[in-house]
Amino acid sequence: MNQIPTQTLDPDQHQRIFTRLITGFYQNIRLLSMYGLLILFFILPFFRYDGRQALWFDIPTQHFYIFGLTFFPQDLFYLAWLLILAAIVLFAVTVFTGRVFCGYACPQTIWTHLYMSVERLFQGPRHQRIRLSKQPMNASKLFKLSATHLVWIVISVATALSFISYVVGTDALYSSLSPVNWLGMGMWLPEISVITWVFFAIFSIATYLNAGFMREQMCFYICPYGRFQSVMLDKDSLIVSYDPARGEPRGKKKLAAEVATGDCIDCSMCVQVCPTGIDIRDGLQMECIQCAACVDACNDIMDKVGSPRGLIRYTTERNLSPSEGATRIFRPKLGVYLIAISLMSCIFIYALLGRVPLEVDVMRDRTTNYRITQGLVENDYLLSISNKTQIADVYDIRVEGNPALTLNSRWGKMPMDAGENFTFPVSVATLQDQAQSNTPFEFVITSSNNPDTQVKRATVFIAPEINGDQS
Ligand code: SF4
Ligand code: SF4
Repeated sequence: MNQIPTQTLDPDQHQRIFTRLITGFYQNIRLLSMYGLLILFFILPFFRYDGRQALWFDIPTQHFYIFGLTFFPQDLFYLAWLLILAAIVLFAVTVFTGRVFCGYACPQTIWTHLYMSVERLFQGPRHQRIRLSKQPMNASKLFKLSATHLVWIVISVATALSFISYVVGTDALYSSLSPVNWLGMGMWLPEISVITWVFFAIFSIATYLNAGFMREQMCFYICPYGRFQSVMLDKDSLIVSYDPARGEPRGKKKLAAEVATGDCIDCSMCVQVCPTGIDIRDGLQMECIQCAACVDACNDIMDKVGSPRGLIRYTTERNLSPSEGATRIFRPKLGVYLIAISLMSCIFIYALLGRVPLEVDVMRDRTTNYRITQGLVENDYLLSISNKTQIADVYDIRVEGNPALTLNSRWGKMPMDAGENFTFPVSVATLQDQAQSNTPFEFVITSSNNPDTQVKRATVFIAPEINGDQS
């Protein structure tokens, strides 16, 4: 058996696939997993936390709310770390369980399954759909196709709405509906920006084309993950495989009396149910998304002909080739992934727990080093404070490090809303005869809600040298 999956379908020969509906143990698990995730995708934007959308990536204001946490662009480190961690988890899962993500949780698989179900609802089972596709257009065909595409469009629009509600927010999307007269049609539309409408249109069209037409071609020619699997899978990874030792030579049962045949009766049911249109009996292929539809289909056939189940099954290459020895669950590659995941998770949790929900930046005024007014030397700074909590707070601002320096600002107490970022000028002053140049000191900003939340920022105070300039 070939360990590295190969692409068996010729792109030039690609034909539309009409899959047969199959039920069974693995398809029940898939339905639970896929539609569970689908429902979660649609309802998550409506979850509230502390009076605000719980999961909200507010790109226009650059605030990212994840339940009780608020992130700013400066926190992109956390997101990048999380994405790298997710990628490594995916690699480890693939080494262990093969392409389980593709078959059970990938959005492409989920939406394709949903669109195929709509197709089946209006156009009937596989043989009727094949016949319909060959028929010339007539009233019945027009009705069936129109109904299918109409529901596809509704799902696409709902998907795009849900997707942008993670960015725009459900309040802005659904609470700001106002009457619009568009092309003579009275409609209620949300008051969202033109760019949001553009993204809404792009997502709607992409969903419609992707799940309605591209389907498995997305997996074959665009998604890089299918290609990765050839380097990630090993002989101990779980794969969906046909057992040629048991199945071959394949042939109809009625011939079995005359010719010794294997358990495969060559009914082609495993091919008819395959959403990617491949024949698993040709060996491990890059197009296989491990949905196990062929496993359920073949088990059904085995039950009917009275042979043991498992001619097509989840197994490993080692299990199929006795000369390769027993399948190893723990192996060096998996160990490295597990160590990397544990370390990265610990670092992530440590960084998240130690995260101070207050961001402070101090910038010196670049136009002048100091000012001298009425016997005082003054330095100007720009202070930028971000309240990263989800409740309003008042921040106490003071300077420390040199008792001769005093804060000269009307912003000694800065009230700020939840998630607000504010930049404002402050000045620090000292008596001219006490002024020393390059004096280090710190701005200390403390939360009133939680005095433990305190940030210190070091900077310097500049004064004229004795007999120096008076800029
Ligand atoms: S479903 Fe099973 S018996 Fe039928 S062709 Fe496929 S492998 Fe052979
Ligand atoms: S070969 Fe089987 S497991 Fe692979 S995609 Fe086709 S039906 Fe799914």
